Amino acid sequence: MRVVVLGSGTSAGVPTLGCDCDVCRSINPRNKRLRSSVYIEEAGLRMLVDCGPDFRTQAINHSIRDVDCVLLTHTHADHINGIDDLRAYNMMRNHPIDVYALPEALDELRRRFDYCFRPPPLGSMVPDLILHKLRDNDDIRGVGVQTIPIIHGEMEIIGFRFEKFAYLTDVSRIPELSYAMLEGLEVLMLNALRRRPHPLHMNLEQAVTSARRIGARRTWFTHICHDLDHDQINAQLPAEMQLAHDGLVFEI
Ligand SMILES: [Zn+2]
Ligand SMILES: [Zn+2]
Ligand SMILES: [Zn+2]
Repeated sequence: MRVVVLGSGTSAGVPTLGCDCDVCRSINPRNKRLRSSVYIEEAGLRMLVDCGPDFRTQAINHSIRDVDCVLLTHTHADHINGIDDLRAYNMMRNHPIDVYALPEALDELRRRFDYCFRPPPLGSMVPDLILHKLRDNDDIRGVGVQTIPIIHGEMEIIGFRFEKFAYLTDVSRIPELSYAMLEGLEVLMLNALRRRPHPLHMNLEQAVTSARRIGARRTWFTHICHDLDHDQINAQLPAEMQLAHDGLVFEI
């Protein structure tokens, strides 16, 4: 399994518009964070987890030639607002794209992108998406995908486990039952927004505590805001638990 971190930033991205803080003005490329998403290749299947507003730039940056399916964690704008750009693949490759999410997220997608599910006006092109309800333990063309229930403020959303890799973003709390689903991981990605607490996201301290409990061999933190300087924070974190960065690639 090959994983490419397309973006490691929170909803506003880093630099954040209008901000002149040290991290936003930093010339370190690892302090440039597009909106959070990962691209996974496994057994010939090309999966995108979330499709945020930076998707087109991310696909160009990493020469992503096609996508077979998109898995959605939830429907906040920073996780779905790149959906429209998928139509380029429909056009170039001449196939629809499967989108997998919980039923309520699919309903929300239909509302927010209603034009994708109606015949397009003459001469225009809309994304060609096939929506699928995710089951707890799903099989997408031979690749096992387990949904991990997580809490995001007042919402119940999902993360994903793909064998030895789990991707959990926008978590404020991991329920007890979900901890039991996260044993024996090689690599964990988990959100760590900033040092200060936030009602919708784990802060760095909470993320480190959860990561220790999960005990993956390696943990990468993501969905990071402009409060955290990449090099400074990573120098303070244990070697097996570090801030991810855009363009990070790992094999499992
Ligand atoms: Zn988010
Ligand atoms: Zn800033
Ligand atoms: Zn969110």
